[in-house]
Amino acid sequence: MSLNINSLLIHGGTDGDEATGAVNVPVYQTSTYKQDGLGETRGWEYSRTGNPTRDALEKLIADLEHGKYGLAFASGLAAINTVLSLFKSGDKLVVSDNIYGGTFRILDNVFKNFGITYEIVDTSDLEKVEAAIDEDVKAVYVESPANPLLTVTDIAAVAEIAHKHNKLLIVDNTFLTPYLQRPLSLGSDIVIHSGTKYLGGHSDTISGFVVVNDKELADRLYYLQNAIGGVLAPWDSFLMIRGIKTLGVRMDRHVDNAKKIAQWLSKSGYASRIYYPGLPEDPGYEVQKKQADGPGAMISFVLDSNYDYRKFFKNLKLITLAESLGGVESLVCHPASMTHAAIPAEIRQEVGIVDELIRFSVGIEDADDLIADLEQAIKTSKKEAV
Ligand SMILES: *Cc1c(COP(=O)(O)O)cnc(C)c1O
Repeated sequence: MSLNINSLLIHGGTDGDEATGAVNVPVYQTSTYKQDGLGETRGWEYSRTGNPTRDALEKLIADLEHGKYGLAFASGLAAINTVLSLFKSGDKLVVSDNIYGGTFRILDNVFKNFGITYEIVDTSDLEKVEAAIDEDVKAVYVESPANPLLTVTDIAAVAEIAHKHNKLLIVDNTFLTPYLQRPLSLGSDIVIHSGTKYLGGHSDTISGFVVVNDKELADRLYYLQNAIGGVLAPWDSFLMIRGIKTLGVRMDRHVDNAKKIAQWLSKSGYASRIYYPGLPEDPGYEVQKKQADGPGAMISFVLDSNYDYRKFFKNLKLITLAESLGGVESLVCHPASMTHAAIPAEIRQEVGIVDELIRFSVGIEDADDLIADLEQAIKTSKKEAV
């Protein structure tokens, strides 16, 4: 029976425990498994290689992404590390120009040392993507919407360009989750997630995922997952399954709140620039609407120069200043000094990650309370007239 996403969130992957009838997959907190004789296993050997709790979660994320093969990792970056390990010295990647700071860091400070290079491109501009592809390029790496400027890339169009040249398309789908966007169905070859964010949803577990459809690619990735060893632990796998069950109801509220707040902000005069693909005036609005079931709940804005952003962060009462995003509670961050500090200042300025930029992960609290907190924090941060 083919199930819709709201049913898959509850019953996808391995639904319950076959052996006992427990409605939840148990935490198989074990590192190894008894072998009945030499070479006679019951399907499990060692928990880096395979663990039933992690396996249930890996099947679940594959189902949600409309993919065939899922892999769970100890963090989003462990997932990214494993995917980047598909490449070898001399290979090059074309990468979106505003991506998660840690993705930039691992490319620039780890894989570059192994001779794997990258070129940063505005992937929302298809001509620039096409122009950047040469013989050395092996893959295009896209975040859409991207972090922190919510730039939307046309995934199907970039997939077409990549495939025309025989390159892979990798999409980081963290900001929308499979509830709102399924990159494999749009032509992407590899989907990556930081499960730490919306999938877990409660700001209590670090995790990462990779999903693919191609058997050969899956075999290489399973090999690398076991060889590198950055796997998700059984208890954390359980917490992720638990979090994912409520993804649909959470995302609906996240998106409703974000739309309301973005509309308020755009009328308020407090922001000189708003980045949110759910606003009809946003340059990514049409593509986002075509390829996703909603714009997500990340809003970035540039605080008007009449207000002091340092004071704004201090004056918030309900909304928390913290790294991360996608949890039930609202968080704000200062990309220039926090999440994107690893990106050199001149590249930050060039792409628009200015000092007054504020990134807001809209939680599922009452939208009017969130607006009231933003308004009081902005009003009380007004600069003194000189
Ligand atoms: C957080 C994040 C990552 C890294 O994930 P971790 O779980 O923190 O390792 C990668 N991509 C995006 C878009 C993220 O937001």
